[in-house]
Amino acid sequence: MIRGHGSEAVILPGRGTVQAGGERVEVRSASKSYGSVLALDNVSLDVAPHEFVSLLGPSGSGKTTLLGILGGFIQPSAGSIHFGGRDVTFVPPHKRDIGIVFQSYALFPHMTVGENVAFALRARRLPKSSWADKVKHALAMVGLAGYEERGIAQLSGGQRQRVALARTIIFDPRLILMDEPLSALDKQLREAMQIELRQLHRRLGATIIYVTHDQREALTMSDRVAVLKDGKLVQIDRPDRLYDHPANAFVASFIGEATLLPVTRVDGASVSLDGAILRTGRPVPATGDLVLAVQTEKLLIDLDRQDPTRNHFSGRVADIVFQGESLRVFLTLDGGASLSLRQPSHYEATRRIPPIGERVNVSLHPEDTIVVPRTES
Ligand code: ADP
Ligand code: MG
Repeated sequence: MIRGHGSEAVILPGRGTVQAGGERVEVRSASKSYGSVLALDNVSLDVAPHEFVSLLGPSGSGKTTLLGILGGFIQPSAGSIHFGGRDVTFVPPHKRDIGIVFQSYALFPHMTVGENVAFALRARRLPKSSWADKVKHALAMVGLAGYEERGIAQLSGGQRQRVALARTIIFDPRLILMDEPLSALDKQLREAMQIELRQLHRRLGATIIYVTHDQREALTMSDRVAVLKDGKLVQIDRPDRLYDHPANAFVASFIGEATLLPVTRVDGASVSLDGAILRTGRPVPATGDLVLAVQTEKLLIDLDRQDPTRNHFSGRVADIVFQGESLRVFLTLDGGASLSLRQPSHYEATRRIPPIGERVNVSLHPEDTIVVPRTES
């Protein structure tokens, strides 16, 4: 899903006529090794103009390395990078027309907000007469209208990150690279900023490539999410597709809150869990070790076992954890496996939960019965 965007020819001083809007970005078989460490392993990626793509993976999976290669700070050991079909592999960072936002704001503490934002214009030698309007516009875009004269020391962390963002968008880059820009903010502010960044992206023409290790952040903002593990691109897809159709156990465990249980294949539409047959809504892989990935919110507590269209499990309640808007219920199945489910904390849902130690029946729709290969290859 790629959101619509306007694209028009504009004149920028010193750069002649360029196509405003987002850059098309292609990574072709890029690898990077540091001595014996393969930080990036033959990654190919195609990002459409104006697309918002997140690079998601655990620490050390190669996200920053890939972003550095896109920015031109890191030279790939093999492969190439193309912007709008043009090979930019050996083009230095300052000639790539990209904006970059890092976790650390890197603002000048002795300058005002306005001077910090205008700095990008100075560096690009834009005429001084145009600065004030551009600064005003950029600050308004990030929700800091009227902050020109404030000192950096007077700002909160969230406001500083907005200044860093304004400094990036002020020169209308066609591509913006962000490396965990919100990770220093507290949870509430981070979630509010995620929604703002998503909306800002819609207003800007730019393509955004965004590094995060936070799966929820990636799902919230992205058109597509690229999952990395050990330097390899494991899966790239729309957030909803990634969540509902994980390619393997790693993606299933990294996205959402799933319990993974080993199962054996019975036929193309069913598997066996400790002898119990479960039907699946989609084809069961034909070979290899398989796991069932049960997202906590997909299990329902049954008050009776009548519905023949669902897969049923029974066991005992091992623990109940109150977490505010929901409760997490840990179960020990009769076959010995552990499962957990989430129950909203409203009255009708919570009264279905038996006390700890009591028997419980739960069920899963075949469409939510996700069976994936245990390993990546
Ligand atoms: P991420 O951003 O996903 O946490 P990185 O891209 O920073 O991962 O790192 C990927 C791998 O490359 C890690 O194993 C890391 O230790 C290694 N690495 C990154 N930069 C260097 C470097 N300059 N020298 C040696 N190893 C590095
Ligand atoms: Mg990193």
